[in-house]
Amino acid sequence: MVKVTVWNENIHEQTDAEVRDVYPEGIHGTIANFLKENGLEAKTATLEQPEHGLTDNVLNETDVLIWWGHTGHDKVDDRIVEKVKDRVLKGMGLIVLHSGHFSKIFKSLMGTTCDLKWREAGENERLWVVNPSHPIAEGIGEYIELDHEEMYGEHFDIPEPDELVFLSWFRGGEVFRSGCVFNRGLGKVFYFRPGHETFPTYHQDDIQRVIVNAVNYVKPLNQNQPIRGNVQPLERFDK
Ligand code: ZN
Repeated sequence: MVKVTVWNENIHEQTDAEVRDVYPEGIHGTIANFLKENGLEAKTATLEQPEHGLTDNVLNETDVLIWWGHTGHDKVDDRIVEKVKDRVLKGMGLIVLHSGHFSKIFKSLMGTTCDLKWREAGENERLWVVNPSHPIAEGIGEYIELDHEEMYGEHFDIPEPDELVFLSWFRGGEVFRSGCVFNRGLGKVFYFRPGHETFPTYHQDDIQRVIVNAVNYVKPLNQNQPIRGNVQPLERFDK
């Protein structure tokens, strides 16, 4: 069974009653619950726990890490970020959600500023599937409609994605690359845009379907780590 750890800074849920009303179990709790309903093994970890809940044991037992952060990016210990990055390069899957675009781990794996345009006007968002045969879009129609979301607009300062699955349109006119896959080392990273904390986005069936699909897509394959460095030849030959 695929083992998922859902990490959330879990700050808005404690400081903002509006967010608590939408996510009484926390964004991490809501995500972990629908993952379990879909046959995945899901645990949660939060910023305030020792080592942010991401101890060596937890990371070594994690196939896919999901990351939701916003106001607490700077509070994440650089040593933990380095450990997560090392695990991704060795094959752990990483799904970065919404405002996680500015997390230390995402910026480190991208190597760019990851900056973008934004606006909180509660406008509607339409996520168009631009790669219909991609496994992450399985079961999704032509698009996902979100009645109310925060706007993120281009230009999004990321490297060219290895695979682009969703392109968002917003009522105000902007567009945004909302579902992007990046290969980093042996790991796969999926950035998925929706999920502003004051909207019930993660309660929506098609959004849950995308995240479940993404877990199954970025999970590590059962393979040995590559051998690197100086090696003896496989065949005998005269120098
Ligand atoms: Zn937001």
